[in-house]
Amino acid sequence: MNNNLNKQNLNEEGFFGTYGGSFIPAELKKETDKIAAVYKELKNSEEFIKELSYIRKHYQGRPTPVTLAKGLNKITGGAKIYLKREDLNHTGAHKLNHCMGEALLAKKLGKKKLLAETGAGQHGVALATAAAYFGLECEIHMGETDIKKERPNVIRMKLLGAKIVPVTFGQKSLKEAVDSAFQAYMRDLDNTLYCIGSVVGPHPFPSMVRDFQSIIGAEAKEQMFELTGRLPDAVAACVGGGSNAIGIFSAFLNDKTVKLYGVEPLGKGCALGQHAATACYGKDGVLHGFKSLVLQNDDGSPAKVYSIASGLDSPAIGPEHAYLKASGRVKYDAVTDEEALKAFYALCKSDGIIPALESAHAVAYALKLAKIMPEDKNILVNLSGRGDKDIDFITEHYGTEI
Ligand SMILES: *Cc1c(COP(=O)(O)O)cnc(C)c1O
Repeated sequence: MNNNLNKQNLNEEGFFGTYGGSFIPAELKKETDKIAAVYKELKNSEEFIKELSYIRKHYQGRPTPVTLAKGLNKITGGAKIYLKREDLNHTGAHKLNHCMGEALLAKKLGKKKLLAETGAGQHGVALATAAAYFGLECEIHMGETDIKKERPNVIRMKLLGAKIVPVTFGQKSLKEAVDSAFQAYMRDLDNTLYCIGSVVGPHPFPSMVRDFQSIIGAEAKEQMFELTGRLPDAVAACVGGGSNAIGIFSAFLNDKTVKLYGVEPLGKGCALGQHAATACYGKDGVLHGFKSLVLQNDDGSPAKVYSIASGLDSPAIGPEHAYLKASGRVKYDAVTDEEALKAFYALCKSDGIIPALESAHAVAYALKLAKIMPEDKNILVNLSGRGDKDIDFITEHYGTEI
């Protein structure tokens, strides 16, 4: 693992500048302190690094390739677009990168069970996969409304051996699932590791998940040198909580010539409740145990969020993103549902790749950038996942072409 990652930005209490930290009950803080201490040892241990490398190569199918999107280039002209193919990572998205890391950590901590909530089921599937690989129990809390909506992922989790706990109170959706999973965790801290699904949550999760995802950037940097002989001129990635984005950005943060773009979902427009563009429109706040930019109502409560891509509808971004926005190193911008859909259809036909709706946001932004950047420039896009999960929804609502 790259141990030089942003050392300068992160302090011992888990703050990136003024963002991050841990705002949690003392009993839980004791446990996260233990996790932080063990992880700090492990991440420098040769054995841990070797085990993770073995899994990545022989189970996940890494390294994933970088592909020149020749077809897209014909449509847009201008700069060339290269895709980092996390859609080809086992289970079809980047999330397995940190789930395998968290599961290996759970083993080392002597835990028996992995626990998490899930919304659309993507994190649940990745975690259930990791649990099966390591022979750990897996308990996924999911709102009853989401269980009905996301049948294929519910079936996947069950096939993989996970226990699904339906959440039946309130809106019966993600927020209640977080509360339910958290209560279950507090009842069984000794046996369980709560596996957070992005670069969010209290310290050490934002930096730990970042470290596990940094393999994306490390591979892509080398691959861009192999393909083009130099660094890319721009890197774009979609941002929900921010794990795939920080994963690819991490390799380029110190390369000042490389422009970095975090692409958020603008949904149906910029009115509160219609989007989930947290870095663009959020304010400083504390949510789920950490300080970051949060989309808030006037009274400070977390606002309703929306995106056509369910993996992006998060009311808070990871604290390192809030820091990178404040420092100006990363530019955050947003594209609408409609722009993401257009990019989705374009990439299917132009290059034979069906992207996840989340990833289509980054592709949409790259299409705009390509048009205004000269031909000899290169844009690297993190294609965070494949779109098979989205095709029923898309074709039902929009048909097979636009
Ligand atoms: C979950 C998900 C995302 C959003 O999560 P980040 O933590 O922001 O990366 C993006 N793309 C895909 C395919 C996802 O499944």
